[in-house]
Amino acid sequence: MIRSLTGNTQLLGVIGDPIRHSLSPVIHNAALAELNIDFVYVAFPVGADNLKTALAGFAAIGLQGFNVTIPHKQTILPLLATVTPEAAAVGAVNTVRWTDQGWWGTNTDVLGFTKPLAAWPLARQGRVIVLGNGGAARAVVAGCLHLGCCHIDVVGRNSQKLEAFSLSWRRSRLSPPLAVHSWENLENLLPQADLIVNTTPLGMYPKLASPLTLAQIELLKEEAIAYDLIYTPAPTRFLSLAAEHGLEIIDGREMLVQQGAAALELWLQQSAPVDTMRNALNTYLGQ
Ligand code: NAP
Repeated sequence: MIRSLTGNTQLLGVIGDPIRHSLSPVIHNAALAELNIDFVYVAFPVGADNLKTALAGFAAIGLQGFNVTIPHKQTILPLLATVTPEAAAVGAVNTVRWTDQGWWGTNTDVLGFTKPLAAWPLARQGRVIVLGNGGAARAVVAGCLHLGCCHIDVVGRNSQKLEAFSLSWRRSRLSPPLAVHSWENLENLLPQADLIVNTTPLGMYPKLASPLTLAQIELLKEEAIAYDLIYTPAPTRFLSLAAEHGLEIIDGREMLVQQGAAALELWLQQSAPVDTMRNALNTYLGQ
Protein backbone atom coordinates (compact mmCIF):
# COMPACT_ATOMS: atom_id res chain seq x y z
CA MET A 1 0.00 0.00 0.00
CA ILE A 2 2.86 2.42 0.85
CA ARG A 3 4.73 3.87 -2.12
CA SER A 4 8.53 3.62 -2.28
CA LEU A 5 10.12 6.07 0.12
CA THR A 6 12.57 8.63 -1.31
CA GLY A 7 14.98 11.24 -0.01
CA ASN A 8 12.09 13.72 -0.29
CA THR A 9 9.52 11.69 1.65
CA GLN A 10 7.68 13.90 4.16
CA LEU A 11 6.54 12.62 7.53
CA LEU A 12 3.11 12.65 9.17
CA GLY A 13 2.11 10.54 12.15
CA VAL A 14 0.24 9.93 15.36
CA ILE A 15 1.54 10.09 18.94
CA GLY A 16 0.15 8.25 21.94
CA ASP A 17 0.89 5.70 24.63
CA PRO A 18 -0.05 2.96 23.89
CA ILE A 19 -0.11 3.50 20.12
CA ARG A 20 0.44 0.08 18.54
CA HIS A 21 -3.35 -0.48 18.30
CA SER A 22 -3.91 2.72 16.30
CA LEU A 23 -5.78 2.33 13.00
CA SER A 24 -4.77 5.82 11.83
CA PRO A 25 -1.71 4.58 9.88
CA VAL A 26 -4.02 2.22 7.95
CA ILE A 27 -6.41 4.93 6.79
CA HIS A 28 -3.82 7.67 6.25
CA ASN A 29 -1.31 5.61 4.27
CA ALA A 30 -4.14 4.36 2.04
CA ALA A 31 -5.09 8.00 1.41
CA LEU A 32 -1.49 9.08 0.73
CA ALA A 33 -1.06 6.21 -1.75
CA GLU A 34 -4.31 7.19 -3.50
CA LEU A 35 -3.17 10.81 -3.73
CA ASN A 36 0.21 9.59 -5.05
CA ILE A 37 2.20 12.06 -2.98
CA ASP A 38 5.56 11.54 -1.30
CA PHE A 39 4.39 11.33 2.32
CA VAL A 40 4.29 8.54 4.87
CA TYR A 41 2.27 8.33 8.14
CA VAL A 42 3.88 6.60 11.14
CA ALA A 43 2.71 5.70 14.68
CA PHE A 44 5.12 7.13 17.28
CA PRO A 45 5.02 5.76 20.85
CA VAL A 46 5.47 8.86 23.02
CA GLY A 47 5.05 8.54 26.79
CA ALA A 48 3.66 11.34 28.98
CA ASP A 49 7.16 12.34 30.18
CA ASN A 50 8.50 12.70 26.63
CA LEU A 51 5.86 14.90 25.02
CA LYS A 52 7.86 18.15 25.09
CA THR A 53 11.00 16.40 23.83
CA ALA A 54 9.03 14.72 21.03
CA LEU A 55 7.63 18.06 19.84
CA ALA A 56 11.11 19.58 19.72
CA GLY A 57 12.40 16.52 17.85
CA PHE A 58 9.52 16.62 15.36
CA ALA A 59 10.23 20.31 14.68
CA ALA A 60 13.93 19.52 14.23
CA ILE A 61 13.32 16.80 11.63
CA GLY A 62 10.64 18.72 9.74
CA LEU A 63 7.58 16.58 10.53
CA GLN A 64 4.63 18.25 8.76
CA GLY A 65 1.89 17.33 11.20
CA PHE A 66 0.58 14.65 13.49
CA ASN A 67 -2.48 13.29 15.29
CA VAL A 68 -2.65 13.13 19.07
CA THR A 69 -4.29 10.43 21.14
CA ILE A 70 -4.39 9.22 24.75
CA PRO A 71 -2.73 10.44 27.01
CA HIS A 72 -1.73 13.70 25.25
CA LYS A 73 -4.94 15.25 23.94
CA GLN A 74 -5.24 17.65 26.86
CA THR A 75 -1.64 17.99 28.06
CA ILE A 76 -0.37 19.10 24.64
CA LEU A 77 -2.34 22.38 24.67
CA PRO A 78 0.18 24.53 26.60
CA LEU A 79 3.03 23.23 24.39
CA LEU A 80 1.47 24.55 21.16
CA ALA A 81 2.08 28.03 19.70
CA THR A 82 -1.56 28.31 18.53
CA VAL A 83 -4.75 26.45 19.47
CA THR A 84 -8.00 27.04 17.58
CA PRO A 85 -10.84 28.54 19.68
CA GLU A 86 -12.87 25.35 19.26
CA ALA A 87 -10.06 23.09 20.47
CA ALA A 88 -9.51 25.48 23.39
CA ALA A 89 -13.21 25.28 24.30
CA VAL A 90 -13.19 21.49 24.00
CA GLY A 91 -9.95 21.44 25.99
CA ALA A 92 -8.42 18.81 23.71
CA VAL A 93 -6.32 18.75 20.53
CA ASN A 94 -6.18 15.74 18.19
CA THR A 95 -4.51 17.32 15.13
CA VAL A 96 -1.29 19.37 15.02
CA ARG A 97 0.30 21.08 12.03
CA TRP A 98 3.69 22.81 11.65
CA THR A 99 3.44 26.49 10.70
CA ASP A 100 5.89 29.42 10.44
CA GLN A 101 4.80 30.36 13.99
CA GLY A 102 5.40 26.86 15.39
CA TRP A 103 2.95 24.05 16.20
CA TRP A 104 -0.75 24.78 15.55
CA GLY A 105 -3.42 22.54 17.07
CA THR A 106 -7.09 21.88 16.47
CA ASN A 107 -9.74 19.23 17.14
CA THR A 108 -11.19 17.28 14.20
CA ASP A 109 -13.03 14.80 16.48
CA VAL A 110 -15.87 17.36 16.67
CA LEU A 111 -16.40 17.28 12.90
CA GLY A 112 -15.76 13.53 12.83
CA PHE A 113 -18.58 13.03 15.33
CA THR A 114 -21.12 15.28 13.59
CA LYS A 115 -20.64 14.15 9.96
CA PRO A 116 -22.38 10.75 10.34
CA LEU A 117 -25.43 12.52 11.85
CA ALA A 118 -26.06 14.64 8.75
CA ALA A 119 -28.95 12.41 7.63
CA TRP A 120 -30.94 12.72 10.88
CA PRO A 121 -32.29 16.26 11.49
CA LEU A 122 -34.44 15.24 14.47
CA ALA A 123 -31.53 13.74 16.40
CA ARG A 124 -29.46 16.78 15.49
CA GLN A 125 -31.89 19.24 17.08
CA GLY A 126 -33.28 17.13 19.89
CA ARG A 127 -32.21 15.99 23.35
CA VAL A 128 -28.98 14.07 23.69
CA ILE A 129 -27.66 11.71 26.35
CA VAL A 130 -23.86 11.43 26.47
CA LEU A 131 -22.56 8.41 28.42
CA GLY A 132 -19.17 9.24 29.94
CA ASN A 133 -17.38 12.50 30.62
CA GLY A 134 -13.84 11.97 29.31
CA GLY A 135 -11.97 13.49 26.36
CA ALA A 136 -14.22 12.16 23.60
CA ALA A 137 -17.33 13.31 25.51
CA ARG A 138 -15.97 16.86 25.30
CA ALA A 139 -15.75 16.66 21.50
CA VAL A 140 -19.28 15.18 21.43
CA VAL A 141 -20.68 18.06 23.49
CA ALA A 142 -19.07 20.60 21.12
CA GLY A 143 -20.43 18.61 18.16
CA CYS A 144 -23.94 18.60 19.64
CA LEU A 145 -23.76 22.38 19.94
CA HIS A 146 -22.79 22.67 16.28
CA LEU A 147 -25.72 20.49 15.32
CA GLY A 148 -28.16 22.62 17.31
CA CYS A 149 -29.15 20.02 19.92
CA CYS A 150 -31.57 21.62 22.38
CA HIS A 151 -30.33 19.86 25.54
CA ILE A 152 -27.40 17.63 26.54
CA ASP A 153 -27.51 15.25 29.54
CA VAL A 154 -24.07 13.92 30.46
CA VAL A 155 -24.00 10.74 32.55
CA GLY A 156 -20.91 9.76 34.54
CA ARG A 157 -19.76 7.64 37.46
CA ASN A 158 -17.54 10.09 39.34
CA SER A 159 -19.39 13.06 40.86
CA GLN A 160 -16.26 15.21 41.22
CA LYS A 161 -15.25 14.69 37.59
CA LEU A 162 -18.83 15.35 36.49
CA GLU A 163 -18.95 18.63 38.41
CA ALA A 164 -15.57 19.67 36.94
CA PHE A 165 -16.89 18.78 33.45
CA SER A 166 -20.00 20.88 34.00
CA LEU A 167 -18.03 23.82 35.42
CA SER A 168 -15.55 23.87 32.55
CA TRP A 169 -18.41 24.16 30.04
CA ARG A 170 -20.14 26.89 32.07
CA ARG A 171 -16.86 28.83 31.94
CA SER A 172 -16.27 28.20 28.23
CA ARG A 173 -17.30 30.59 25.47
CA LEU A 174 -19.61 27.86 24.09
CA SER A 175 -21.78 27.58 27.24
CA PRO A 176 -23.94 24.59 26.13
CA PRO A 177 -27.42 23.72 27.52
CA LEU A 178 -25.96 20.90 29.61
CA ALA A 179 -26.78 18.99 32.79
CA VAL A 180 -24.75 16.25 34.49
CA HIS A 181 -26.17 13.12 36.14
CA SER A 182 -25.10 9.96 37.92
CA TRP A 183 -25.83 6.59 36.27
CA GLU A 184 -28.63 6.06 38.83
CA ASN A 185 -30.60 8.83 37.09
CA LEU A 186 -30.21 7.36 33.58
CA GLU A 187 -33.60 5.64 33.41
CA ASN A 188 -35.39 8.96 34.00
CA LEU A 189 -33.55 10.50 31.05
CA LEU A 190 -33.92 7.70 28.47
CA PRO A 191 -37.58 8.27 27.41
CA GLN A 192 -36.90 11.89 26.34
CA ALA A 193 -33.71 11.29 24.36
CA ASP A 194 -33.54 11.66 20.56
CA LEU A 195 -29.88 10.63 20.45
CA ILE A 196 -27.78 8.59 22.89
CA VAL A 197 -23.99 8.51 22.50
CA ASN A 198 -21.67 6.07 24.24
CA THR A 199 -18.28 7.71 24.86
CA THR A 200 -17.17 5.19 27.52
CA PRO A 201 -14.93 2.26 26.56
CA LEU A 202 -17.67 -0.13 27.77
CA GLY A 203 -18.03 -2.71 24.99
CA MET A 204 -14.62 -2.17 23.40
CA TYR A 205 -12.84 -5.31 22.13
CA PRO A 206 -12.26 -7.81 23.68
CA LYS A 207 -15.01 -7.23 26.29
CA LEU A 208 -18.58 -7.73 25.08
CA ALA A 209 -20.15 -5.38 27.63
CA SER A 210 -22.91 -2.85 27.02
CA PRO A 211 -23.40 0.43 28.93
CA LEU A 212 -27.18 -0.14 28.75
CA THR A 213 -29.25 -3.26 29.41
CA LEU A 214 -31.94 -4.31 26.94
CA ALA A 215 -34.57 -3.18 29.46
CA GLN A 216 -32.98 0.30 29.49
CA ILE A 217 -32.75 0.40 25.69
CA GLU A 218 -36.47 -0.40 25.56
CA LEU A 219 -37.12 2.87 27.43
CA LEU A 220 -35.79 4.83 24.42
CA LYS A 221 -38.16 6.25 21.77
CA GLU A 222 -38.50 4.15 18.61
CA GLU A 223 -37.12 7.00 16.51
CA ALA A 224 -34.10 7.59 18.78
CA ILE A 225 -30.59 7.05 17.41
CA ALA A 226 -27.93 5.02 19.23
CA TYR A 227 -24.35 6.12 18.48
CA ASP A 228 -21.27 4.33 19.84
CA LEU A 229 -17.83 5.93 19.43
CA ILE A 230 -16.21 2.49 19.71
CA TYR A 231 -15.06 1.09 16.35
CA THR A 232 -13.92 -2.43 17.38
CA PRO A 233 -16.13 -4.34 17.40
CA ALA A 234 -18.55 -2.61 15.05
CA PRO A 235 -21.32 -2.91 15.98
CA THR A 236 -20.80 -3.16 19.74
CA ARG A 237 -23.19 -5.11 21.95
CA PHE A 238 -24.93 -1.82 22.82
CA LEU A 239 -25.60 -1.11 19.14
CA SER A 240 -26.67 -4.71 18.44
CA LEU A 241 -29.25 -4.49 21.24
CA ALA A 242 -30.40 -1.09 19.98
CA ALA A 243 -30.78 -2.43 16.42
CA GLU A 244 -32.78 -5.41 17.75
CA HIS A 245 -35.10 -2.86 19.37
CA GLY A 246 -35.52 -1.17 15.96
CA LEU A 247 -33.36 1.89 16.56
CA GLU A 248 -31.08 3.48 13.97
CA ILE A 249 -27.44 2.87 14.93
CA ILE A 250 -24.13 4.56 14.14
CA ASP A 251 -20.79 2.95 15.05
CA GLY A 252 -17.42 4.67 15.57
CA ARG A 253 -15.82 3.77 12.21
CA GLU A 254 -17.21 6.72 10.29
CA MET A 255 -16.12 9.18 13.01
CA LEU A 256 -12.61 7.71 12.82
CA VAL A 257 -12.56 8.12 9.04
CA GLN A 258 -14.03 11.63 9.07
CA GLN A 259 -11.73 13.00 11.80
CA GLY A 260 -8.79 11.53 9.88
CA ALA A 261 -9.94 12.99 6.56
CA ALA A 262 -10.35 16.43 8.16
CA ALA A 263 -6.82 16.20 9.61
CA LEU A 264 -5.33 15.17 6.27
CA GLU A 265 -7.01 18.11 4.53
CA LEU A 266 -5.48 20.49 7.08
CA TRP A 267 -1.98 19.06 6.54
CA LEU A 268 -2.09 18.75 2.75
CA GLN A 269 -4.47 21.64 1.93
CA GLN A 270 -6.30 19.40 -0.54
CA SER A 271 -9.35 17.11 -0.48
CA ALA A 272 -8.93 13.76 1.26
CA PRO A 273 -10.02 10.55 -0.52
CA VAL A 274 -12.64 9.64 2.10
CA ASP A 275 -13.93 6.54 0.29
CA THR A 276 -10.39 5.13 0.08
CA MET A 277 -9.88 5.75 3.80
CA ARG A 278 -13.21 4.09 4.67
CA ASN A 279 -12.47 1.08 2.43
CA ALA A 280 -8.99 0.68 3.93
CA LEU A 281 -10.45 0.66 7.43
CA ASN A 282 -13.17 -1.84 6.59
CA THR A 283 -10.73 -4.11 4.77
CA TYR A 284 -8.33 -3.99 7.71
CA LEU A 285 -11.14 -4.83 10.14
CA GLY A 286 -12.30 -7.64 7.83
CA GLN A 287 -15.68 -6.01 7.08
P1 NAP B 1 -11.35 8.82 28.42
O1 NAP B 1 -10.94 10.23 28.36
O2 NAP B 1 -10.57 7.84 29.21
O3 NAP B 1 -12.89 8.83 28.94
C1 NAP B 1 -13.62 7.64 29.17
C2 NAP B 1 -14.89 7.95 29.95
O4 NAP B 1 -15.58 6.71 30.15
C3 NAP B 1 -14.65 8.55 31.35
O5 NAP B 1 -15.69 9.43 31.65
C4 NAP B 1 -14.72 7.31 32.25
O6 NAP B 1 -15.15 7.59 33.55
C5 NAP B 1 -15.80 6.50 31.55
N1 NAP B 1 -15.68 5.10 31.86
C6 NAP B 1 -14.60 4.29 31.68
N2 NAP B 1 -14.87 3.03 32.07
C7 NAP B 1 -16.16 3.05 32.54
C8 NAP B 1 -17.01 2.06 33.10
N3 NAP B 1 -16.59 0.81 33.27
N4 NAP B 1 -18.26 2.43 33.46
C9 NAP B 1 -18.69 3.69 33.30
N5 NAP B 1 -17.92 4.68 32.77
C10 NAP B 1 -16.67 4.36 32.39
O7 NAP B 1 -11.42 8.18 26.94
P2 NAP B 1 -11.85 8.93 25.59
O8 NAP B 1 -10.66 9.46 24.92
O9 NAP B 1 -12.97 9.86 25.92
O10 NAP B 1 -12.36 7.69 24.70
C11 NAP B 1 -13.54 7.02 25.05
C12 NAP B 1 -13.94 6.04 23.98
O11 NAP B 1 -14.22 6.72 22.76
C13 NAP B 1 -12.88 4.98 23.65
O12 NAP B 1 -13.53 3.74 23.46
C14 NAP B 1 -12.30 5.48 22.34
O13 NAP B 1 -11.79 4.42 21.55
C15 NAP B 1 -13.52 6.11 21.69
N6 NAP B 1 -13.16 7.14 20.70
C16 NAP B 1 -13.50 6.90 19.40
C17 NAP B 1 -13.20 7.86 18.44
C18 NAP B 1 -13.57 7.61 17.01
O14 NAP B 1 -13.02 8.27 16.12
N7 NAP B 1 -14.50 6.70 16.72
C19 NAP B 1 -12.55 9.05 18.81
C20 NAP B 1 -12.24 9.27 20.16
C21 NAP B 1 -12.55 8.28 21.11
P3 NAP B 1 -14.13 8.17 34.69
O15 NAP B 1 -13.77 9.54 34.22
O16 NAP B 1 -14.94 8.12 35.90
O17 NAP B 1 -12.96 7.24 34.67
